[in-house]
Amino acid sequence: MKYTWFRSGALAFVALLAVSCAKTDDATPSPAAGRDDNLALGNPSGAVASSASPTNYLLVKAQYTLSYNRDQGKPNWVSWHLSSAWLGSAPRQDDFRVDADLPSGWYQVKATDYSGSGFDRGHNCPSADRTSTVADNSATFLMSNMMPQAPQNNQQTWANLENYARSLVDAGNELYIICGSYGKGGTGSAGYETTIAGGKVTVPARCWKVLVVLPVGNNDVSRITASTRVIAVNTPNDNALSSNWGSYRTSVDAIESATGYDLLSTLPMSLQATLESQTDTGPTN
Ligand code: MN
Ligand code: MN
Repeated sequence: MKYTWFRSGALAFVALLAVSCAKTDDATPSPAAGRDDNLALGNPSGAVASSASPTNYLLVKAQYTLSYNRDQGKPNWVSWHLSSAWLGSAPRQDDFRVDADLPSGWYQVKATDYSGSGFDRGHNCPSADRTSTVADNSATFLMSNMMPQAPQNNQQTWANLENYARSLVDAGNELYIICGSYGKGGTGSAGYETTIAGGKVTVPARCWKVLVVLPVGNNDVSRITASTRVIAVNTPNDNALSSNWGSYRTSVDAIESATGYDLLSTLPMSLQATLESQTDTGPTN
C-alpha cells in the first residue's frame, strides 16, 4: 500500500518517543491528543437534519459530519477533526456501500454506481485519516462520503495533500479539515461527464479543501489566532491536473465566494477576515 512508508515512519517516531520518555521522567508532559468535535469550526451551509432539506441535509457520524445533497448523490462538504487519537493500525476496509442513514425514500448511491465511469470513488474524509478502529475506517467507505473524482486528482494531487495533512499530525499537530466539491462537469479517464449512475450522481467541476493546523492542545477553537496556519486548496476535477497540490492553493474567501458557504464561522468575524483573505505559502511536503 502506498501509505506503508508513512505509517512505518510514524511507528518508528512513536517508538523513539517511547524510548526518550522512558529515559527522561522530568520532561513536561505534552497534552495528549484527543478526538474533538468534527464540526468545531462551524456548519458552512447551515445544513439541517431534516428530510425537508434534501439538498443541504446534515448527517452526523462519530467519524465526520457532512452536508448531503440528495439531488447530486454526493456530499456538499464534509468536516472532520484529525489527530493522532484517530490514527492507528486498522487496515483499509474497502467496504464501499450504501448509507442507510439517509432519509427513507431517498436514492442510496451504490458501491457499483461509479463503475466504468472513468471517475474514482473519491473519499472526502479519507480512509487513512480513520484507522484507530475497524469501525472508524469502515465508516469512511459509506457512499455518502464519496465524490466522483478524476483518478489523477484522487490518486495523486489529493492523495499528496492527504498524506501531507497526516505528516503534520506526526509533527505534533491536530487539524480541522473541511472539504467538498461544487459545480457540474469533470474530465475523468474516459472523458468529460456531467453526471454518472444514470444521472443520480453529479460529477463536480471542482474539489476544494480547507485545513486549519494547531499544535496539539485543548480548547482548540479559542487557540486559533491570526498566525494559525490555514491552507485552502481548490482543484479542477480534471485528469490533466498537476500532482502538486500546492499549485492550487487559494484563499478561504475565494472558496466561500465560489460555494456561497461561510467557512470557519465559529471564529470571531475579525479573525475570519484576517485568516480567510490569505493564501498559504508554507511547505507542501
Ligand atoms: Mn481519495
Ligand atoms: Mn468564514
